[in-house]
Amino acid sequence: MVNTILHGKTHCTSSEAKEAGIMRGSSPTAEIPGHAFGPWSFLKAAGASLGFCAMGVAPAGEVSQRARDVFERWVRSGYHAGLVYMEKWSDARSDTAHHGIVDGSAAVVCAALPYSSGAVETGIWKSVAAHARSRDYHQVMEDRLDGIVRAIHARFPGTISRVFVDTAPVMERTWAVAAGLGGFGNNGALIVPRVGSRVVLGEIVCSNVPKPEYTDVPSVRGPCLECGACVDACPTGALAPPGMVDCNKCVSYHTIENTREPIPPDVSSAMTLIFGCDLCIDACPLNRAPDLCELDPPPDRGPGSMTPQDVSEASDEILAKVFRGTCLERTSVETIRRNARLLVERN
Ligand code: SF4
Ligand code: SF4
Repeated sequence: MVNTILHGKTHCTSSEAKEAGIMRGSSPTAEIPGHAFGPWSFLKAAGASLGFCAMGVAPAGEVSQRARDVFERWVRSGYHAGLVYMEKWSDARSDTAHHGIVDGSAAVVCAALPYSSGAVETGIWKSVAAHARSRDYHQVMEDRLDGIVRAIHARFPGTISRVFVDTAPVMERTWAVAAGLGGFGNNGALIVPRVGSRVVLGEIVCSNVPKPEYTDVPSVRGPCLECGACVDACPTGALAPPGMVDCNKCVSYHTIENTREPIPPDVSSAMTLIFGCDLCIDACPLNRAPDLCELDPPPDRGPGSMTPQDVSEASDEILAKVFRGTCLERTSVETIRRNARLLVERN
């Protein structure tokens, strides 16, 4: 079964992974999506041993002109809404060898961790986007990538590396495609073959390592069926041009990132959760594969019976306690309470 292989925790024979002390078991080499060129061939087994569902490496440097054009068109169209930092750092964003990323980098290692659809959740966690119903994925991803960093340093002594999980202007989906993890979907997300788009991404940018060499050009389209189910499911029309999200209309953007401005009524009236929105992801037929989950439960689940109404009335102290150690901690408690109030008003 592909899912057994994808979980991969007991399917690794990589000697590099053993050397790095990251083995969790021993059995045949796992096959997960991603490029693993020549001396980098240890990556896939190392990634599988740590629960990654896709792992690969791309030659570092400038992103393709196409990727730059798409990004600039997205910003010029104003689709980034209040994410003004997207207008900055264009030199670093378009080139991983820029000194703001890793000076003279040779390789970008990309990894995807699967998260659950969250269908089994109860209490307030039913009202939180699936990717956030766990210990903060940034922490989980960094912990797992530390194992890959050890494997890389064991294989290439003298490596200089930096781990990125939303921590710098690295075009993570563009690099994930370049590293063979999957392709862009019309939902704007990376789609990993046989897994779907319920994944979180992280990168390790390395210098003093062999530059990976492509034997074929990665496809940007990947497994997307172009069926339009994601576009049809979006209640606000935020997925207008294929693969581009207009944040001005996106419930996920407004409930997670928009902490200062009021949420426009036509967006708040489409809310289904107090944090994020899963409608376009849930509608995608490629996300119907059996659940894989490599994220940990939240450190403190809080009162399981809490409702959005309770959240809208809860004190700062209670909200901080319930959401401690999760992605929701990155958004202010005022924002969470505002979202809960809007959701209650909507119903
Ligand atoms: S997250 Fe929600 S609002 Fe945003 S594009 Fe997807 S369906 Fe539309
Ligand atoms: S719903 Fe259809 S068009 Fe949208 S990302 Fe999934 S496969 Fe592609």
